Amino acid sequence: MDRFVYADNAATTQVSPQVFDAMVPYLKDHFGNPSSIYKLGRDASKDIEAARVKVAAALNAEPREIFFTSCGSESDNWALKGAMQLMSKKGKKHLITTVIEHHAILHTAQALERQGYEVTYLPVNDMGLVSAEDVKKAIRPDTALVSVMYANNEIGTIQPVAEIGKICHDAGVLFHTDAVQAIGAVEIDVKAQNIDMLSLSAHKFHGPKGVGAFYCRKGLVLPNLIDGGGQERSKRAGTENTAYIIGLGTAIEIACANIAEKNARLIPMREKLIDTILTTIPRCRLNGDREKRLPGNVNISFEGVEGESLLLMLDMNGICASSGSACTSGSLDPSHVLLAIGLVHEVAHGSLRLSLSDVNTMEDVDYILEKLPPVIEKLRAMSPLWERINKG
Ligand code: PLP
Repeated sequence: MDRFVYADNAATTQVSPQVFDAMVPYLKDHFGNPSSIYKLGRDASKDIEAARVKVAAALNAEPREIFFTSCGSESDNWALKGAMQLMSKKGKKHLITTVIEHHAILHTAQALERQGYEVTYLPVNDMGLVSAEDVKKAIRPDTALVSVMYANNEIGTIQPVAEIGKICHDAGVLFHTDAVQAIGAVEIDVKAQNIDMLSLSAHKFHGPKGVGAFYCRKGLVLPNLIDGGGQERSKRAGTENTAYIIGLGTAIEIACANIAEKNARLIPMREKLIDTILTTIPRCRLNGDREKRLPGNVNISFEGVEGESLLLMLDMNGICASSGSACTSGSLDPSHVLLAIGLVHEVAHGSLRLSLSDVNTMEDVDYILEKLPPVIEKLRAMSPLWERINKG
């Protein structure tokens, strides 16, 4: 194996050295319980609050609007279940979301349906874009909440979040966005974009796994997520995961400090991958919008190729990639996102997601471009499906 290229940053990212260094003291000497009144505890509490300020600054929110959670999925659950429970007291039991959401949203919406709530799942166009006009048309007098992801984890399509936020607010409907894939990739301003609730997760931007945050606009008082002690203003009890919260704060500060600069490096890498693959490998197609796209996302389907085999052969060449979302790998069901943008099962199965982060280099891209074409050729040579495609 000549090189190791990690190109699965939408699944998770490596903790950066700065984040690691920031966390270590809290696993060693700064171990105090943030609720304790002596200095060791008070210092930990102060540092958690400093991390909260960093998360708030990244979103143009106020620190008291930020709650630390254990992951993006937890934040998504809190948003949907909390808002629906709150609004049902006013007789509003209708939720609008989209067919391409992450399972943290889709399965939560399905759980709500089982409890008697009504859910509208909006379709997307063949680029994976949700129409703001469709959101407007779907809003009813009993609509409580709209939840549309900021950017898709599989195909990278970035949604018209500000436009949807305005429609929701004009209609008096709450708006939540799952921004797990968007942090550090696009500029987010919860106030300007009329976002009432937002979910994020540290491990997608070089922070640790198992810590997330939930933005909830002040004035919107959701039911408690975990009852217990007074942590997180009594809304989400449990002794804080101090080291990981510090890691999240450090990671978000770095990720959001130089978005334009980072994208100026990432986009040429993405474009080289897309252009070269599309022009040198026959019968493949780009999934997702070409322009409204996460700067590090490449998602391409290859006819006559089986995704799992493609991933294994890339792995043998030292390349880590994905064929769908991390949560669906291991399952042979084709991705719900790829089906939603109109791909047939066989083509959806042959899809490859390469997701870059700011630690990737043009040498990584060249390495992928050297290894991928012969791998595709080899797989196609063994594929009865490819034989059939060739025979028309
Ligand atoms: N939402 C999106 C869009 C994601 O991509 C993910 C993770 O892949 C999640 C939610 C879940 O985040 P976590 O793994 O922190 O629970």
